[in-house]
Amino acid sequence: MERRGHALPVVHVSLVKADWLSFDEALERVLNGASVLDAVESGIDSALGRVLAEPLSARATIPASANSAMDGYAARSDSVLGATPENPARLEVKGRIAAGMSAAGVRVGAGEAVAIMTGAPVPEGADSVIRVEHTSGWRQEGEVVSVTAGSDAGRNIRLAGGDACAGETVLSAGTVVTPGAVAVATAFGHDSLKVVRAPHVRVLVTGDELAPNERYREVIEGIAVPDSNGPMLVAQARSSGAAAEGHALVGDDPDELRRVIDAARCADALVVSGGASMGDRDLVKGVLGEFGFELDFWRVRMRPGSPVGFGFLDDLPVFSLPGNPASAFVTFETLVRPFIRGLAGFDPPVPFRIRAVAGEELGSTARMTVFQRVRLNGEEPVATLSGRQGSGLVRSLGSADGLAVLPEGVTEVPCGERVEVIATGCGMYGL
Ligand code: AMP
Ligand code: MG
Repeated sequence: MERRGHALPVVHVSLVKADWLSFDEALERVLNGASVLDAVESGIDSALGRVLAEPLSARATIPASANSAMDGYAARSDSVLGATPENPARLEVKGRIAAGMSAAGVRVGAGEAVAIMTGAPVPEGADSVIRVEHTSGWRQEGEVVSVTAGSDAGRNIRLAGGDACAGETVLSAGTVVTPGAVAVATAFGHDSLKVVRAPHVRVLVTGDELAPNERYREVIEGIAVPDSNGPMLVAQARSSGAAAEGHALVGDDPDELRRVIDAARCADALVVSGGASMGDRDLVKGVLGEFGFELDFWRVRMRPGSPVGFGFLDDLPVFSLPGNPASAFVTFETLVRPFIRGLAGFDPPVPFRIRAVAGEELGSTARMTVFQRVRLNGEEPVATLSGRQGSGLVRSLGSADGLAVLPEGVTEVPCGERVEVIATGCGMYGL
């Protein structure tokens, strides 16, 4: 894993060189630290959302033999070519084959037909399946069926190996195990897959003012702030493909911070929220510094979330996110999610952005990359603000489908102009 940081003074962070970076530079530094984790064997049931570490080859030829794509009659094309309702082809029915039956010993000659169901093996001699709608209907063996259209001549047969032949690669390494990939793996004989293991992410939120849900009464009384970041960050980590247990909530207490940070060393990443800025109670950096933390960068020209930091505690990558809920959310989506996806083997690690149209003017006075919480509506889709955008506000996160990106230097996207959106709502699960 490449390290960019050096033993920088952690308290006087304003002295570090990697300070006040552009968003793109910060993302590049984060991704430089994201090496793909090792692979594990996983049952197909638990492989959903993981990335295949090895290509998967077909254990069988599928379909095993030519079979019918339609319910109808297997026939020779020269028996039906030119057939019309006025001048139908009359074929003698020689039998019936359904899916799961064998076609062994059945032969279709000129002027003959065999009733055949979708998925049933095509008998010898037939090169066409005439859909039943192009005939006078179902007839018994020995009866005559009229074919009223010749357009199915040479059609409606799925060839042996048409999906894949035994030994062919059906899923390449790097494929995300989607429901579709589950179907492919199962169809080609695999109930266990070699996948990149899920990164273990530890979430730590700090602040004396925070109350977990059990102490919500203090929030009602106005003496505490609800800890929404803890559950939010765990949910974000899990939806990025990480295994994250519940978060740790620690007050502004150095001893407790030491204990939790030390215990997090075996994780693949530590995400800390709160206590990251320059306030006199912002203790996280000091405690990390005691452990030999190497800061890679601190502060990014982004809004919200500029006081974000990244570095390494020995091998442990550490993200220090600002405590404001929207800042924590946005820094996770834009920096931590790509990092976790990188560990988990996603290529590209940065999720695709949606090209949307601004449904209202999206503007900002900030001279930095701005991420605005937006809803997406319509087919195009159209992006409108999901609510008020203050970095301390939670509510507009709930109805946001994504983050509209105003790159550095862009202070206004007029209504009707194109804008890129990072999907953060349910759309992101497909990206
Ligand atoms: P800090 O980054 O610790 O200076 O916190 C900035 C703001 O975010 C303060 O108003 C905190 O109360 C708030 N905050 C910090 N941590 C959380 C959290 N876990 N959940 C919700 N708000 C928080
Ligand atoms: Mg704080």
